[in-house]
Amino acid sequence: MTIHFPFQNTYAALPDSFYARVAPTPVAAPRLIKLNRPLALHLGLDPDLLATPEGAEILAGARVPDGADPIAMAYAGHQFGHFVPQLGDGRAILLGEVIDTDGIRRDIQLKGSGPTPFSRRGDGRAALGPVLREYIVSEAMAALGIPTTRSLAAVVTGEHVMREAVLPGAVLTRVAASHIRVGTFQFFAARGDNDGVQKLADHVIARHDPHAANAERPYHALLEGVIARQADLVARWLSVGFIHGVMNTDNCSISGETIDYGPCAFMDHYDPATVFSSIDEMGRYAYANQPKIALWNLTRLAECLLPLFADDKDQAIEQAQIMLGGFAEKFTTAYQAGLRRKIGLFTARDGDEALVQGLLDAMAKSQADFTLTFRRLGDAARDSDNDSVRQLFADPTAFDEWAVRWRQRIADEPQSAAERHAAMRAVNPAFIPRNHRVEAVIEAAMNRDDFAPFEQLLAVLSRPFEDQPEFADYADPPKPEQRVLQTFCGT
Ligand code: AMP
Ligand code: MG
Repeated sequence: MTIHFPFQNTYAALPDSFYARVAPTPVAAPRLIKLNRPLALHLGLDPDLLATPEGAEILAGARVPDGADPIAMAYAGHQFGHFVPQLGDGRAILLGEVIDTDGIRRDIQLKGSGPTPFSRRGDGRAALGPVLREYIVSEAMAALGIPTTRSLAAVVTGEHVMREAVLPGAVLTRVAASHIRVGTFQFFAARGDNDGVQKLADHVIARHDPHAANAERPYHALLEGVIARQADLVARWLSVGFIHGVMNTDNCSISGETIDYGPCAFMDHYDPATVFSSIDEMGRYAYANQPKIALWNLTRLAECLLPLFADDKDQAIEQAQIMLGGFAEKFTTAYQAGLRRKIGLFTARDGDEALVQGLLDAMAKSQADFTLTFRRLGDAARDSDNDSVRQLFADPTAFDEWAVRWRQRIADEPQSAAERHAAMRAVNPAFIPRNHRVEAVIEAAMNRDDFAPFEQLLAVLSRPFEDQPEFADYADPPKPEQRVLQTFCGT
């Protein structure tokens, strides 16, 4: 029996300069530790077949399924502001594309599947810890309704990888609307390959911005599309306290999905300067810097597209600047609308921005937990005697003072307390992948080969907006001794 994936390989049909054809490297003893069955069905794949030993071999890169045309994609990128003209998939291999049940084309990629011509000095492998982290956080993001790559499967390889220690190896099967990054455009632009830039732009238009094909200026419409998606994405990140950690241009997706989960993390207490990543010494990718960095990345994309905008360079730059100038408003509109919903407002009024900022300032001063403050604010909206939210503030009177203004504001809207409570619960999650929980899951898997905590955490995070009283402690912030202060790339 051979497993057939209904692959289409449109990226592999682009010119040779776009990728290197390379098959995954087989591994010693593949063992499937997780298969995302609902996602498999959504992709039109048979989960029962994927769960067979042969399926596990495919998901480990030990066997190439029928219909695949495996490639490692070429890309460049600015890493912490420094340009690297060639990065590329050093440990990832695109098997092909399938059309999901919504009619959307999805890449299926193995991450950690062995060396490629882009591996530089790396081994092409992934360690189990980062694979589990990416699986958990990407699936949590999806459940939160935030655009993201998905995780179809995780496999342990039966081999070890050498990092700061000897670690178990693993392969993640990643699903994305595409793996095209800002850095993919940079790869061609840096080589002066305008034809490559144009072919890539045409591919992106067909795939992500079909409306742009009929626009008066298709390449302008393409950039506008990417700007709009990134503005919306970063606004959503901020609304749940997510910190990507490595917003390099090669980790900035053209499709507007969150991609490349490395030292990412959700913050516990609210502090806009929060940084977790051990490699982000300057705080370049701190929580509150993310909109600014997204714009910086989009500016690098616009630079690549200049030759497509106009023959005259000055004119092209002027047009790019106008489009990039639209980012701030798009971001702010999405961000403020999200915050208004988080504090239970159904309407927009002058003064709302200051009202929300008042809460955030009090939270920052009082080290209030970001997720729980908004979740419990919903309870306080229904029941004015409920004091669970004020208890989150080191200085509860700071919350009380703010709440007077807030209660006046919501009293002006016609919705009932029950309606407001329901609306707030639908946007303010109870459960996020808290760092200490993720670390505990990884520890159990690595040291005891125990994947039950992983399954349990995934189950809780798949329903983030439901109370799940039996798992109430998963909503708790870390105790002081549980706090995770740093996260690592683990590459
Ligand atoms: P990342 O930090 O995962 O976004 O990766 C940055 C670059 O390093 C990409 O080009 C990766 O393909 C490459 N890379 C990361 N880890 C490895 C590895 N273990 N082996 C080969 N290349 C890697
Ligand atoms: Mg990357």
